[in-house]
Amino acid sequence: MAPGRFAGYKTTLIMLLPTQQVAIVGGGPGGLTLANLLQQAGLMVRVYERDIDRNARVQGSPLDLHEESGLAALRKAGLMDAFKTHFMPDADHTVIMNPDAEVVFSNSEDKRPGFGDAGFRPEIDRGALRNILLDALHPETVVWNRHLRSMTPQGAGWQLQFEEQDAVYADFVVGADGARSKIRPYLTDSQAFYSGITMIEGLIEDAAEKIPFLYTVLRGGKIMGFGDGINILMGQKEAGAVGFYFSFKADKQWVSTSGLSLNNRNQLLQWFKSRYTGWNPVWQELLEQTALPLIPRPIYCIPPDQTWPAQANLTLMGDAAHVMPPFAGEGVNMAMRDALELAAALTSGTDSSPATAIAAYETSMRSRSAEKALESLQNGERMHSETALDTMTAFFKGTVAIQ
Ligand SMILES: Cc1cc2nc3c(=O)[nH]c(=O)nc-3n(C[C@H](O)[C@H](O)[C@H](O)COP(=O)(O)OP(=O)(O)OC[C@H]3O[C@@H](n4cnc5c(N)ncnc54)[C@H](O)[C@@H]3O)c2cc1C
Repeated sequence: MAPGRFAGYKTTLIMLLPTQQVAIVGGGPGGLTLANLLQQAGLMVRVYERDIDRNARVQGSPLDLHEESGLAALRKAGLMDAFKTHFMPDADHTVIMNPDAEVVFSNSEDKRPGFGDAGFRPEIDRGALRNILLDALHPETVVWNRHLRSMTPQGAGWQLQFEEQDAVYADFVVGADGARSKIRPYLTDSQAFYSGITMIEGLIEDAAEKIPFLYTVLRGGKIMGFGDGINILMGQKEAGAVGFYFSFKADKQWVSTSGLSLNNRNQLLQWFKSRYTGWNPVWQELLEQTALPLIPRPIYCIPPDQTWPAQANLTLMGDAAHVMPPFAGEGVNMAMRDALELAAALTSGTDSSPATAIAAYETSMRSRSAEKALESLQNGERMHSETALDTMTAFFKGTVAIQ
């Protein structure tokens, strides 16, 4: 995105919401980054999160943060030192394997970039990122075990209703509650569409012991195994664990219609043999060793042309606003860029009212995220095409530019 009006916003504040209560619903990377930025600017912020407490398991692959978005937001929040303490220095080690489990590309001998180098995208475990963002907030900021059910207009703000908890009032609400946002319908009827790709996610603790061959190849980074329209993606996690995804094209309802129980190891092994026919048994070890159940992840994407009229006391950010396939590594970066821009809109003094500030933020956010959503869809098609192994290998070798 072009630097534009939100780059380098002033911290001499003419705040739009100086005495009002801001409720951020959802304590993912987007919501917690926004909470940090608003709190540092002096706003009264609460984050309402459905997880029971901060120790709830954070699933998912490590996240690579980009200079103009994820890293820019952390820098603005003063959290780069904490990030440098916790990032995973070897996570950009990248290996491509074929179904026979032969390495066809590895950057292990290359000099890889570091902080200060162009194009460096340091990676961090999701749990570590969440902890950095939580530790920087005032202790009472996040209200755990608050699963938002619905909202009703009240006065100039909103009454938030939670499952089995008392309702609370907020003057201004930010929906940061992820892909299945309960808040999004209060702004738009537009819904994300199924991308045609489903992933199933697993986690292996003590991976050095349980999957020794793949773990040795992994070397703290990531492995991408590409086959004929199907693939396996895996990456290092904290504390010697490895996360993986089986990723393939499937009908939208595959999770319910396939008859496959993601909690039944024998069924999973049979499914692997029929769906990943001819793949080396070394890949099968992932299913033999993983914790169960696996997590189904049908991959959705927002309509790139989505729009809605701005409201003065409600907005969206992150996946709630623009869920997209993970194949360009942009989801979390867009969420954190949203935090940066929304905080700027509310605190920089550029806009005279919340309505104009929100309208400007949302216009920029939709345009920027639509571009990344299209890129993510295109990458998803390439990674699940019949020529994925050759195309992606050529890309990583630098002989093909993927637009
Ligand atoms: C399989 C997969 C792999 C991915 N890999 C990458 C990657 O490599 N790089 C990348 O950049 N992105 C990746 N993404 C996308 C990335 O995870 C998201 O874009 C990012 O987490 C969005 O952050 P967020 O804060 O908007 O939402 P989320 O991370 O979804 O956080 C939302 C929070 O809201 C809470 N919540 C939800 N509903 C409610 C409710 N009703 N009430 C209260 N709280 C609620 C949730 O518990 C959660 O804590 C991947 C996504 C998937 C599915």
